[in-house]
Amino acid sequence: MQAALDRLNVNLAKAQPSATYRMMDRVAAKRAAGASIISLSAGEPDFDTPAHIREAAVSAIRDGHTRYTQAAGLRALREAIAEKFKRENGLNVSWQDTIVCSGGKQVIYNALAATLNEGDEVIVPAPYWVSYPEMVQLCGATPVVVPCGADVGFKLTPAALSDAITSRTRWLILNSPSNPTGAVYSRAELAALAEVLLAHPHVLVLSDDIYEHLTFDGEPFHTIAQVEPRLKDRTLTMNGVSKAYAMTGWRIGFGTGPTWLLDAMEKLQGQQTSGAASISQHAALAALKGPQDFIRESKTVFQARRDLMVDSLNSAPGLSCTVPGGAFYAFASCEGLLGKTTPAGTVLRTDEDVALALLDEANVAVVHGSAFGLGPYIRIAYALDNNSLREACEAIRQFCLSLN
Ligand code: GLU
Repeated sequence: MQAALDRLNVNLAKAQPSATYRMMDRVAAKRAAGASIISLSAGEPDFDTPAHIREAAVSAIRDGHTRYTQAAGLRALREAIAEKFKRENGLNVSWQDTIVCSGGKQVIYNALAATLNEGDEVIVPAPYWVSYPEMVQLCGATPVVVPCGADVGFKLTPAALSDAITSRTRWLILNSPSNPTGAVYSRAELAALAEVLLAHPHVLVLSDDIYEHLTFDGEPFHTIAQVEPRLKDRTLTMNGVSKAYAMTGWRIGFGTGPTWLLDAMEKLQGQQTSGAASISQHAALAALKGPQDFIRESKTVFQARRDLMVDSLNSAPGLSCTVPGGAFYAFASCEGLLGKTTPAGTVLRTDEDVALALLDEANVAVVHGSAFGLGPYIRIAYALDNNSLREACEAIRQFCLSLN
């Protein structure tokens, strides 16, 4: 084992596998063995990609759009992305100020890989999406995790940001609405963070806006480069079609930021993937240019599911959950379950024990909170139909009731 590890890149050897993917793999293995599992593990909409987008992809194949595109993406798609940033985010950018990558993940990874050196620090507010600190680590830099607990609404405060910044800080990563908590930063909260950042011109900002369209209760969405235009020339605003248009498998993410950064990301991508898949780019173009009703409709559906989930989780003894303002995740404290024993005899010592026991004994898959940098919690992705959600909630409640 050690000999094999010695052959690996040192940064990869140190990194953890993606906890979300590990749970998705466990679910697949259980299902292959015949188990009936309700999976609340993967953060992806359960809807089909809208028909007009799928049709656009079929037409792209028929019309022979099957060759390489420019490494930074098709010009028509980049124009649509620039238009989207103008229309929805008030960011006045041209198509040259955009890049298309193979999923939002690659936008983030490219930006980090293009800029980080050993000794650099990246501020990652916790709870965080599992891949941020690992990507930083893969690039040889150091994630500086800033705990943001329930007492601060799982959000970074200006004071905590200020304390975390050093001369080695390269990036701050912001994600609103948040995966895994659903927390949404208000305009005032972003403005207060921007105030701190203005005093530290060496810090770049990565704004992961992938859940932009999922803010509930009429709350508007804000992104930091819009709230504080003086940060625009050092902010990478990143988004994608995965969550907005139920297109996770198509792997199209995009971003806008300073020219020097986009050029570096394009150079990297040109040596790495040659750019995103041409068919997927044509589908993304149809998504951005076509009717937008799907976005409104899915937001209404997700808000109703959120209400169902939060009520049910809070009725399970030992679990407690605040109301998330966006995304499609509930982040429930499972502190009240720790120390208890399951019917199969497992003592629940950590939130990971809780997640594994839920899978093995209740046939429900969730991801443990510690993987997102804060325990003892479980993350529940409620991107399933109401009947499956009700069934899952009942199984979770019965599991909680069955503990000794
Ligand atoms: N972003 C989703 C999640 O957190 C997809 C899986 C992943 O890439 O981590 O579940």
